[in-house]
Amino acid sequence: MPLEFLKRKSGASLPAVVPSAASAALPEEVTAQEYQLKLYYAGKSSEGVRFKPGPRAMDELPSMLVGLAKSEIEVVDPLPIEFSQATPTIARPSEAMQWLNAHHVHSPITRHGLVVLETIDAIDLAFDTFVCALLDGEVDTSGYPEYNAIVGGVASHWDEATGDMIVRAVVGWGGKGVRGDTDRTGARILAGLFTNILANQYALGITSIERPVPAAGRGGLVCAHCGFASGHERAFYCPKCGMRLLRG
Ligand SMILES: [Zn+2]
Repeated sequence: MPLEFLKRKSGASLPAVVPSAASAALPEEVTAQEYQLKLYYAGKSSEGVRFKPGPRAMDELPSMLVGLAKSEIEVVDPLPIEFSQATPTIARPSEAMQWLNAHHVHSPITRHGLVVLETIDAIDLAFDTFVCALLDGEVDTSGYPEYNAIVGGVASHWDEATGDMIVRAVVGWGGKGVRGDTDRTGARILAGLFTNILANQYALGITSIERPVPAAGRGGLVCAHCGFASGHERAFYCPKCGMRLLRG
């Protein structure tokens, strides 16, 4: 009988105590820990300059960075069809893997430049050839540009109407921070690059840019001259070598 009494007593007291203690601890407002990251990417692109077509004009592209580049000048060719989904977005593994496979060979400066300028849609490697270097600021101990460092150079593509090469100056910067004077420095460097483009012996003059539209679907043609398989189905000219694409 005493045993039965104890059992019932303890069994009844436990559920009575626990919820009342929990409800007493409920605050009127939830105290939240705040987390935030502000990424800031920015860039500038100049007007286009029309060039006499041909492989010699392409070879001139790196020379347009001379006097402004503070690192080795790297050339990034347009991406062939197998990299048509390449995007520097790590949460999309298939697109990110294509991007890494296409660009892991490049320097940290060029990869940073591609991330910034592709993210803000200032360049599109479906048709752009991108020539890149560090143009202002510092790199960290791993060789990656600081948020206020300016990277870029020139981008070129083939005009679908005429087959001429169109070259423009492109600069970008950004990351976990922003500084007030970076925009002004970027504008000054863009002007310097644009002057170099116009001063080139093959330059024909300033032109309005009509950027080609990359293919959404099955992709385009294979260049008979250099073997490049374009992801750009409307291309008349090979994004890589600039020769006329033959339609079968
Ligand atoms: Zn080609």
